[in-house]
Amino acid sequence: MVGWIIPPPKKSVKTPEDFLQERRAKVKELEALGFLRSPRLKAAMLKVPREEFIPSLYRDYAYLEVPLPLPGEATISCPHSYPLFYEALELAEGHRFLEVGTGSGYGAALAWEVVGPQGLVVTLEIDPETCDFARENLTRLGYAHVMLVQGDGSLGYPPLAPYDRISFTAAAPEVPPPLLGQLAEHGRVLWPVGRPNQVQDLVMMVNLGEGRWRRVVVTQVAYIPLRGTYGYASA
Ligand code: SAH
Repeated sequence: MVGWIIPPPKKSVKTPEDFLQERRAKVKELEALGFLRSPRLKAAMLKVPREEFIPSLYRDYAYLEVPLPLPGEATISCPHSYPLFYEALELAEGHRFLEVGTGSGYGAALAWEVVGPQGLVVTLEIDPETCDFARENLTRLGYAHVMLVQGDGSLGYPPLAPYDRISFTAAAPEVPPPLLGQLAEHGRVLWPVGRPNQVQDLVMMVNLGEGRWRRVVVTQVAYIPLRGTYGYASA
Protein backbone atom coordinates (compact mmCIF):
# COMPACT_ATOMS: atom_id res chain seq x y z
CA MET A 1 0.00 0.00 0.00
CA VAL A 2 1.38 3.42 -0.90
CA GLY A 3 -0.16 6.79 -0.28
CA TRP A 4 0.35 10.45 0.39
CA ILE A 5 -0.26 12.59 3.41
CA ILE A 6 -2.70 15.28 2.36
CA PRO A 7 -2.23 18.54 4.28
CA PRO A 8 -5.31 19.74 6.23
CA PRO A 9 -7.87 21.98 4.48
CA LYS A 10 -7.52 25.64 5.46
CA LYS A 11 -8.59 29.09 4.30
CA SER A 12 -6.26 30.50 1.66
CA VAL A 13 -4.21 33.49 2.82
CA LYS A 14 -1.56 33.69 0.08
CA THR A 15 -1.54 36.58 -2.40
CA PRO A 16 -1.09 36.38 -6.20
CA GLU A 17 2.48 37.67 -5.62
CA ASP A 18 3.18 34.80 -3.16
CA PHE A 19 1.97 32.27 -5.74
CA LEU A 20 4.03 33.87 -8.50
CA GLN A 21 7.18 33.60 -6.37
CA GLU A 22 6.37 29.98 -5.52
CA ARG A 23 5.73 29.16 -9.17
CA ARG A 24 9.10 30.65 -10.22
CA ALA A 25 10.89 28.78 -7.44
CA LYS A 26 9.19 25.52 -8.42
CA VAL A 27 10.25 25.88 -12.05
CA LYS A 28 13.86 26.52 -10.94
CA GLU A 29 13.75 23.48 -8.68
CA LEU A 30 12.31 21.20 -11.38
CA GLU A 31 15.01 22.38 -13.79
CA ALA A 32 17.77 21.80 -11.24
CA LEU A 33 16.43 18.29 -10.55
CA GLY A 34 16.40 17.51 -14.28
CA PHE A 35 12.62 17.02 -14.56
CA LEU A 36 12.12 20.13 -16.68
CA ARG A 37 14.28 20.65 -19.79
CA SER A 38 12.39 21.99 -22.80
CA PRO A 39 11.92 25.77 -23.16
CA ARG A 40 8.26 25.54 -24.23
CA LEU A 41 7.31 23.47 -21.20
CA LYS A 42 9.29 25.78 -18.93
CA ALA A 43 7.41 28.80 -20.36
CA ALA A 44 4.11 26.92 -19.89
CA MET A 45 4.86 26.10 -16.25
CA LEU A 46 5.77 29.71 -15.57
CA LYS A 47 2.58 30.93 -17.22
CA VAL A 48 -0.17 28.56 -16.01
CA PRO A 49 -1.31 29.51 -12.46
CA ARG A 50 -1.53 26.07 -10.84
CA GLU A 51 -3.22 27.54 -7.74
CA GLU A 52 -6.23 28.49 -9.90
CA PHE A 53 -6.89 24.78 -10.58
CA ILE A 54 -7.07 23.86 -6.90
CA PRO A 55 -10.12 24.09 -4.57
CA SER A 56 -9.74 27.11 -2.29
CA LEU A 57 -9.28 25.09 0.92
CA TYR A 58 -6.12 23.50 -0.54
CA ARG A 59 -4.91 26.41 -2.68
CA ASP A 60 -2.07 27.48 -0.40
CA TYR A 61 -0.43 24.06 -0.93
CA ALA A 62 -0.43 24.44 -4.73
CA TYR A 63 3.35 24.22 -5.14
CA LEU A 64 4.02 21.44 -2.61
CA GLU A 65 4.99 18.04 -4.02
CA VAL A 66 1.76 16.40 -2.92
CA PRO A 67 -1.40 15.46 -4.83
CA LEU A 68 -4.43 17.45 -3.60
CA PRO A 69 -8.13 16.49 -3.51
CA LEU A 70 -10.52 17.73 -6.21
CA PRO A 71 -14.31 17.59 -6.44
CA GLY A 72 -15.41 14.04 -7.36
CA GLU A 73 -13.13 11.00 -7.16
CA ALA A 74 -10.06 12.89 -8.29
CA THR A 75 -6.76 14.43 -7.28
CA ILE A 76 -4.46 16.94 -8.94
CA SER A 77 -1.08 15.26 -9.35
CA CYS A 78 2.13 16.69 -7.82
CA PRO A 79 3.82 19.52 -9.76
CA HIS A 80 6.79 17.41 -10.91
CA SER A 81 4.56 14.78 -12.52
CA TYR A 82 3.69 17.05 -15.47
CA PRO A 83 7.28 17.58 -16.70
CA LEU A 84 7.89 13.90 -15.93
CA PHE A 85 5.11 12.95 -18.37
CA TYR A 86 5.52 15.65 -21.00
CA GLU A 87 9.32 15.46 -21.31
CA ALA A 88 9.19 11.66 -21.69
CA LEU A 89 6.52 12.08 -24.37
CA GLU A 90 8.58 14.86 -26.00
CA LEU A 91 5.34 16.83 -26.30
CA ALA A 92 5.97 19.59 -28.84
CA GLU A 93 4.40 22.45 -30.77
CA GLY A 94 1.78 21.32 -33.28
CA HIS A 95 1.10 17.95 -31.65
CA ARG A 96 -2.37 16.45 -31.41
CA PHE A 97 -2.53 15.44 -27.76
CA LEU A 98 -5.05 13.26 -25.92
CA GLU A 99 -5.19 13.21 -22.12
CA VAL A 100 -7.22 10.61 -20.23
CA GLY A 101 -8.17 11.84 -16.74
CA THR A 102 -8.63 15.63 -16.82
CA GLY A 103 -8.86 16.14 -13.07
CA SER A 104 -8.46 19.86 -12.47
CA GLY A 105 -7.64 20.73 -16.09
CA TYR A 106 -4.14 21.90 -15.10
CA GLY A 107 -2.34 19.25 -17.18
CA ALA A 108 -4.52 20.09 -20.19
CA ALA A 109 -3.76 23.82 -19.82
CA LEU A 110 -0.01 23.13 -19.71
CA ALA A 111 -0.30 20.87 -22.75
CA TRP A 112 -2.23 23.58 -24.60
CA GLU A 113 0.58 26.07 -23.96
CA VAL A 114 3.11 23.55 -25.33
CA VAL A 115 1.26 22.40 -28.48
CA GLY A 116 0.07 25.92 -29.33
CA PRO A 117 -2.72 26.99 -31.69
CA GLN A 118 -1.50 24.68 -34.48
CA GLY A 119 -1.93 21.70 -32.17
CA LEU A 120 -4.91 20.08 -30.45
CA VAL A 121 -5.65 19.11 -26.85
CA VAL A 122 -8.47 16.66 -26.18
CA THR A 123 -9.02 15.70 -22.54
CA LEU A 124 -11.46 13.07 -21.26
CA GLU A 125 -12.91 12.92 -17.74
CA ILE A 126 -15.25 10.19 -16.52
CA ASP A 127 -16.48 11.86 -13.31
CA PRO A 128 -19.22 14.46 -14.03
CA GLU A 129 -18.44 16.51 -10.91
CA THR A 130 -14.71 16.63 -11.69
CA CYS A 131 -15.48 17.42 -15.31
CA ASP A 132 -17.61 20.45 -14.32
CA PHE A 133 -14.79 21.67 -12.06
CA ALA A 134 -12.24 21.33 -14.89
CA ARG A 135 -14.55 23.07 -17.37
CA GLU A 136 -15.03 26.02 -15.05
CA ASN A 137 -11.26 26.30 -14.48
CA LEU A 138 -10.33 26.03 -18.16
CA THR A 139 -12.97 28.55 -19.24
CA ARG A 140 -12.12 31.07 -16.52
CA LEU A 141 -8.41 30.93 -17.39
CA GLY A 142 -8.87 31.31 -21.14
CA TYR A 143 -8.39 27.67 -22.22
CA ALA A 144 -11.78 27.26 -23.86
CA HIS A 145 -10.03 25.80 -26.95
CA VAL A 146 -9.12 22.71 -24.97
CA MET A 147 -11.62 20.05 -26.04
CA LEU A 148 -13.00 18.65 -22.76
CA VAL A 149 -15.28 15.64 -23.09
CA GLN A 150 -17.08 13.87 -20.27
CA GLY A 151 -17.00 10.12 -20.67
CA ASP A 152 -14.96 6.93 -20.49
CA GLY A 153 -11.46 7.85 -21.66
CA SER A 154 -10.39 4.21 -21.69
CA LEU A 155 -12.17 4.11 -25.06
CA GLY A 156 -10.23 7.13 -26.31
CA TYR A 157 -11.92 9.67 -28.54
CA PRO A 158 -12.16 8.40 -32.14
CA PRO A 159 -13.70 11.52 -33.77
CA LEU A 160 -10.44 13.48 -33.50
CA ALA A 161 -7.94 10.59 -33.82
CA PRO A 162 -5.14 10.01 -34.65
CA TYR A 163 -3.15 11.59 -31.82
CA ASP A 164 0.60 12.17 -31.79
CA ARG A 165 0.77 11.82 -28.03
CA ILE A 166 -1.54 10.20 -25.47
CA SER A 167 -1.16 10.17 -21.71
CA PHE A 168 -3.19 8.70 -18.89
CA THR A 169 -3.09 10.24 -15.45
CA ALA A 170 -4.75 7.20 -13.83
CA ALA A 171 -3.35 3.69 -13.33
CA ALA A 172 -4.54 1.06 -15.82
CA PRO A 173 -4.03 -2.72 -15.87
CA GLU A 174 -2.70 -2.45 -19.44
CA VAL A 175 -2.94 0.12 -22.20
CA PRO A 176 -6.52 -0.06 -23.49
CA PRO A 177 -6.42 -1.53 -27.03
CA PRO A 178 -8.64 1.23 -28.55
CA LEU A 179 -6.01 3.79 -27.53
CA LEU A 180 -3.21 2.09 -29.45
CA GLY A 181 -5.47 2.21 -32.51
CA GLN A 182 -5.87 5.99 -32.12
CA LEU A 183 -2.14 6.70 -32.03
CA ALA A 184 -0.44 8.21 -35.10
CA GLU A 185 2.62 6.59 -36.73
CA HIS A 186 5.66 7.44 -34.58
CA GLY A 187 3.27 8.48 -31.79
CA ARG A 188 3.83 7.82 -28.11
CA VAL A 189 1.49 6.77 -25.32
CA LEU A 190 2.41 7.03 -21.64
CA TRP A 191 0.48 5.58 -18.70
CA PRO A 192 0.92 4.18 -15.19
CA VAL A 193 0.59 0.40 -15.40
CA GLY A 194 -0.26 -1.49 -12.27
CA ARG A 195 -2.69 -1.85 -9.45
CA PRO A 196 -4.21 1.06 -7.53
CA ASN A 197 -2.65 1.81 -4.13
CA GLN A 198 0.60 0.17 -5.19
CA VAL A 199 3.69 1.47 -6.89
CA GLN A 200 3.12 1.38 -10.65
CA ASP A 201 5.45 1.43 -13.65
CA LEU A 202 5.18 4.54 -15.80
CA VAL A 203 5.29 2.85 -19.19
CA MET A 204 5.73 4.44 -22.61
CA MET A 205 4.89 2.72 -25.88
CA VAL A 206 6.48 4.24 -28.97
CA ASN A 207 4.90 3.42 -32.32
CA LEU A 208 7.89 2.75 -34.58
CA GLY A 209 5.69 2.23 -37.65
CA GLU A 210 4.97 -0.91 -39.66
CA GLY A 211 3.42 -2.58 -36.63
CA ARG A 212 6.57 -2.32 -34.51
CA TRP A 213 6.50 -0.92 -30.96
CA ARG A 214 9.10 -0.05 -28.34
CA ARG A 215 8.12 -0.33 -24.67
CA VAL A 216 10.07 1.72 -22.11
CA VAL A 217 9.62 1.89 -18.32
CA VAL A 218 10.27 5.55 -17.50
CA THR A 219 10.07 5.37 -13.69
CA GLN A 220 7.77 4.33 -10.82
CA VAL A 221 4.69 6.33 -9.83
CA ALA A 222 1.53 6.08 -7.66
CA TYR A 223 -1.74 7.07 -9.34
CA ILE A 224 -5.42 6.61 -8.57
CA PRO A 225 -7.13 3.89 -10.63
CA LEU A 226 -8.48 4.23 -14.14
CA ARG A 227 -12.20 3.46 -14.20
CA GLY A 228 -14.32 2.52 -17.18
CA THR A 229 -14.31 -0.30 -19.71
CA TYR A 230 -10.56 -1.00 -19.64
CA GLY A 231 -9.96 0.23 -16.11
CA TYR A 232 -10.57 -1.39 -12.73
CA ALA A 233 -14.16 -2.58 -12.38
CA SER A 234 -14.18 -2.12 -8.61
CA ALA A 235 -12.84 1.43 -8.78
N1 SAH B 1 -4.27 15.21 -14.81
C1 SAH B 1 -5.06 15.58 -13.67
C2 SAH B 1 -4.99 14.57 -12.56
C3 SAH B 1 -6.05 13.60 -12.68
S1 SAH B 1 -6.36 12.39 -11.43
C4 SAH B 1 -4.78 16.99 -13.22
O1 SAH B 1 -4.02 17.66 -13.88
O2 SAH B 1 -5.36 17.46 -12.27
C5 SAH B 1 -7.06 11.13 -12.43
C6 SAH B 1 -8.36 11.47 -13.08
O3 SAH B 1 -8.71 10.39 -13.97
C7 SAH B 1 -9.54 11.64 -12.14
O4 SAH B 1 -10.12 12.88 -12.39
C8 SAH B 1 -10.50 10.50 -12.53
O5 SAH B 1 -11.87 10.84 -12.39
C9 SAH B 1 -10.13 10.30 -13.99
N2 SAH B 1 -10.48 9.02 -14.60
C10 SAH B 1 -10.43 7.78 -14.06
N3 SAH B 1 -10.83 6.86 -14.96
C11 SAH B 1 -11.16 7.53 -16.11
C12 SAH B 1 -11.64 7.14 -17.39
N4 SAH B 1 -11.87 5.85 -17.71
N5 SAH B 1 -11.84 8.10 -18.30
C13 SAH B 1 -11.61 9.42 -18.03
N6 SAH B 1 -11.17 9.84 -16.83
C14 SAH B 1 -10.94 8.92 -15.88
